[in-house]
Amino acid sequence: MSRSVLITGGSRGIGLAAARALQAAGDRVAVTHRTAEPPAGLLAIRCDVTDSAQVDAAFKRAEEEHGPVEVLVCCAGINKDQLLMRMSEDDFTAVLNTNLTGAFRAVKRASKAMLRAKSGRVVLVSSAVALRGEAGQANYAASKAALIGFTRSMARELGPRNITFNVVAPGLTRTQMADDLSEEQLERLVTQIPLGRLAQPDEIAATIAFLTSPQAGYITGAVIPVDGGAGMGH
Ligand code: NDP
Repeated sequence: MSRSVLITGGSRGIGLAAARALQAAGDRVAVTHRTAEPPAGLLAIRCDVTDSAQVDAAFKRAEEEHGPVEVLVCCAGINKDQLLMRMSEDDFTAVLNTNLTGAFRAVKRASKAMLRAKSGRVVLVSSAVALRGEAGQANYAASKAALIGFTRSMARELGPRNITFNVVAPGLTRTQMADDLSEEQLERLVTQIPLGRLAQPDEIAATIAFLTSPQAGYITGAVIPVDGGAGMGH
């Protein structure tokens, strides 16, 4: 495989692990970074997914270097956890704007070239809490659940053009996002995971890579949990 791949939020964590996995398989991978330092050995493009102009510019740069984007992975995400009574409207809309509308901006921009090519792969990173919900994460869970409705609508709309859309729903994963939790929070959450541990970013990246592979050519509109069993039954 030597496809042009763009990964939003590929500067660290799950996105960076996916970038390394696809690059190791032979793809030409571009990642966006925003506040983090650009990772070494990858085409790194500064881009904030809350700004359509920056998303457009990132695609233009990736296209110049690697050709039209054939595989898009939407990984950029934030959380601003707070109980409802203390959650500001700004914190609610900021999380939606990055996690959901950010993915909309990237998918819309990517779809132009994919429609022309009559082929494309899109993977969106949601979360186990999308369907299960979590106290203190109303904004985050709402954004991640909405991502599933968005993905499945795209799978129906653009499936006839041979573009697949799938969701990976990770459980708690060893990245900066999990490091922000206290030890007590982590211990409590781990007790709810049948496998009894957090995921490593590589374990999420492997499923992302599979969904972009030729072996996954007949999978679209799927939500694949990679969560140690935490979301079973949802
Ligand atoms: P990290 O916090 O390590 O990485 C988040 C990434 O998103 C960074 O690359 C960051 O870029 C980028 N990002 C955030 N906001 C923006 C923005 N406005 N524009 C562009 N990029 C942005 O977290 P993870 O790797 O853990 O998270 C990756 C995805 O996985 C997220 O969507 C997250 O919700 C999801 N997820 C994570 C879980 C976990 O337990 N870690 C569990 C379930 C889902 P930069 O650093 O350059 O600012």
